[in-house]
Formats: sequence, C-alpha cells, structure tokens
Amino acid sequence: MAAAATNTTKTEEHVSLKLLLNEKGNKVLFAEAGKDFVDILCSFLTMPLGTIARLVEKESSIGPVTVGCLNSLYKSVADMDQGCFSTDIIKQMLLQPINSAEDYCNTLKLNIDDGHPTKYFVCSDYTCCKNYPEMTIPTYKDKHTCRCGNPFTLPVFFKHFRQGFVNSGATFVITDNLTVMPNCIDYTSFSLLQKFGIKSPNSVKEMVLNVTKEKVLDLLKCSLLSKSTLTDFLLGKKPSLGSSSFFSSNIEIGGAIQIVLKLVIRKSDGKVLYAQGEQDFTNLLLSFLTFPLGGIAHVFGENCPLGSIDGLYKSIADLNENKYLISKQAKNRLVDPCIAPQTKLSKQILPILDPGAHKYYGYRDSNYNVRALFYKPGEIVTYPEGLQNMNFSIRTSLGDVGYVKGPAMYFATDDLVIAPLSPISALSLLNRLNTPLNDLKEKVVTIGIKECLSILKATLTSESVLTNGLAHLLTEVKEEK
Ligand SMILES: [Zn+2]
Repeated sequence: MAAAATNTTKTEEHVSLKLLLNEKGNKVLFAEAGKDFVDILCSFLTMPLGTIARLVEKESSIGPVTVGCLNSLYKSVADMDQGCFSTDIIKQMLLQPINSAEDYCNTLKLNIDDGHPTKYFVCSDYTCCKNYPEMTIPTYKDKHTCRCGNPFTLPVFFKHFRQGFVNSGATFVITDNLTVMPNCIDYTSFSLLQKFGIKSPNSVKEMVLNVTKEKVLDLLKCSLLSKSTLTDFLLGKKPSLGSSSFFSSNIEIGGAIQIVLKLVIRKSDGKVLYAQGEQDFTNLLLSFLTFPLGGIAHVFGENCPLGSIDGLYKSIADLNENKYLISKQAKNRLVDPCIAPQTKLSKQILPILDPGAHKYYGYRDSNYNVRALFYKPGEIVTYPEGLQNMNFSIRTSLGDVGYVKGPAMYFATDDLVIAPLSPISALSLLNRLNTPLNDLKEKVVTIGIKECLSILKATLTSESVLTNGLAHLLTEVKEEK
C-alpha cells in the first residue's frame, strides 16, 4: 500500500500523485496530478476492449480481475482454431486489437498497452505510386506486390509527434471516482475541502504516491470495477463486480440488424444456458473486442455503470479543449473514439464507433523515412510544409468477409464461452451444464440493435450475458413453465 509505493526503487519509472486522505487514512478525498498522470487516465478511454481483457488478466499488486464476461469472450477467441477465422490475421487482430489513438498514446510516460505498434510497408519505389499509394502489413508484405509490380519493402513510421492529451502546464484535481477537474478558480482547495465535509485542516492527511507501471495496471483494474477507484487503488483492495441489478439497454440507434438465435433455456429458473446462431452472431460478439472503452461510455452514457469510467469520460467531455487539452482533435479521440479501420468489418454489425471516411497521410521526412499520420473524418490535416503528402489506403481491408468463416454454427454460453457447434459438441455442452433434458426448452428469437446493445452492456457488467441481455424476450418462457 503506501509503504509499497515508497519502496519503489529510484531507477523505476514513475509518475507522482499527490493524495489527500481522511483522518484515518482509509479514504482518498481527492488527488492532485499533472499531465503525466492525467494522460495515463485518458489513455484508458482509447483502449479497445480486447486490450482491456488482456491487461486485466495480467498479474499486478491486486492480481488478475474479471470484468463481466469480457475475459471469457477474449479467452474464447484465443481458444478458437485458426481455421475458424476468415483470414490468417483476424485471430491476432482480435487478440491484439489496434488502438485508433495509438499515435496519441505513444508518448505516455507509462504505457501499459504491451501490444506491438502497428507496422506498415509501402512500395519499394515510393514515388511510383502517387496516384494510388497503398500500405500493407507484415503478414502480407511478401504475398502482395504494388500495382507497379514492385514489392512492399519500405517501412512506414508513424510519426510520434502528438504529445498525449492534456496541456503540460495544467494541473488537475481528481476525485475518488475519477472525475477530472482543472485546478482553477472554480475549484479552489478551500471549496473542495468544504465539499468533502472537512472542517479543520488537521483532520486530513497528505501523501505522495509514486505510481509505477504495475500500479497503473492496478489503477485500470480498479477504474473498471470500483466507484471508489483511488481509495481501492491506494489500499490495494481487489475490486469485484457488484451484485447491482442489471438494466437492459434502452439506447435507440438507427439501423437494421436481424440475427436469428436459438436459445436453450432451463425451464426451472428461466436461465438461458446457451444460444446457438450462425456466423453473424459470432461476428457480433467478437466485434466487441475492437470497441474502444471510451466508445462504450460514449454510446451508453450514464446508462453503463462500468466502475468509474463514466465519471472519467464525462469529466473529460466537460474540459475546455482550448484551455486544458492539447487540441480539439485530442479531445475528440477521447470523447468520440472509433474502431481502428483495419479491424472494422465492411459490414459492421453494430452501427457504432465507425471510423468513417478516415485518411492516412504519408510523406517522406528529411532522412527519407516514410512517415504516416492517421486522421479521423473532420480532423484538420497538418503535415510538414513543403513536403508532398500522399493519401494512403491500406491493403488489409477485411473486404466482405466476417471475422469467422461461414456458413457455420456457433454456440455462446451465458457466461460467453463461444465455440463452433456440432451435434456432438452440443451433447457434451449439455452434459457440462448438468441439466436434465426435460428441464430444457428451446426458443427461436430474432434480435435487433436494441438486443445487441443489451448484450454488449451485459458483457461488461454482468456474469449472465444472455439471461440478462435478452431478459425481455424470456418473460413468456417463465410463464409457460
Ligand atoms: Zn509501386
């Protein structure tokens, strides 16, 4: 806890965080921090759920944690045979999804995302393809050639010139539930102390915590599960999903989806044991891994009680971008994030977090290295003056395929174990679920956007994804029993 932090060796990289605690020292009232720490908090919002799933399983002071059924969804992808996937890069792409704001995160003082930065290659003759410049990824580097016939051998460097998210001069006050407020005239320490019911300066304690990379991992875990993130983080308390009741999503989003599922329900308690569906259902579930965490807060708003993430998201959205953030774009990457274009299905199932008409601009720097920059729609394109820029496209698009091959049948259990379905695997599944056949009932349902969003929300906040996410389709089953 506090002692562990002070043991940090001098050589270990850390970011310092000043904390104000109550008299007993068991509750964080608020923290004070500068750019280094706030940028790390901001980076959480940019991480795809697949990255989150990988990180929460890692060891740190508080040990691995479980976030709803996200861990189990991720493990299903890891366990699935390479042959289930439409192309040879998809499995890896879902297990190490690209962060669409990686260009903003690569100057973080402590970066816990251990995914390898995306590498690209362009035509060996850089000038030959001005009209249709393309980039490819290492997997296809030797399999593809440029339109001109030359190989893709020139490496592309993503320029790391974006310096995080918030301005370096600014300092911030951060509450226990990760509400980030600028240290400004509206929030003087005096009014803050009063807000927390502190009458005398003697009744509080101050401490400075050296936050190391391992501690950032703890912080991420606490932020996903706890409403008192900083307190749990300081005390090294392992948070877990509360038993709060689940409310299905009531978010209305335009668009049409129709996915047919057969639900296998236990009559005695109305629990969905598993659902079977075709590849569209599996593509839907796997696509969750590509969604950035901030995108979940963006879509669900206060409707998605995911630890302190909604508090963090909302407070960043409230920050004045001209004063406290390095640019309007930087704020936009946090509050309106998108899926990395490389991981998006051409027929994206849930019409959310779409990268839209994005652009990759490339140019050659003074050392003749090829550099590229990613721009979301509406962002102002800036590149060094006097250099001709090229608008690259990426030769890795998933085309019309989904993540998994079809036609095929899959099942997903209530806690989101997903695998291909065959009559024999269905039998062993029923065996494992240990339910007599006469207590089972099948129901065929067609789900739309509303149900898909409910399943997404349940994946992050519940241990019974199908029973909770599809609750409103199950009422009549209970009545029939
Ligand atoms: Zn070429």
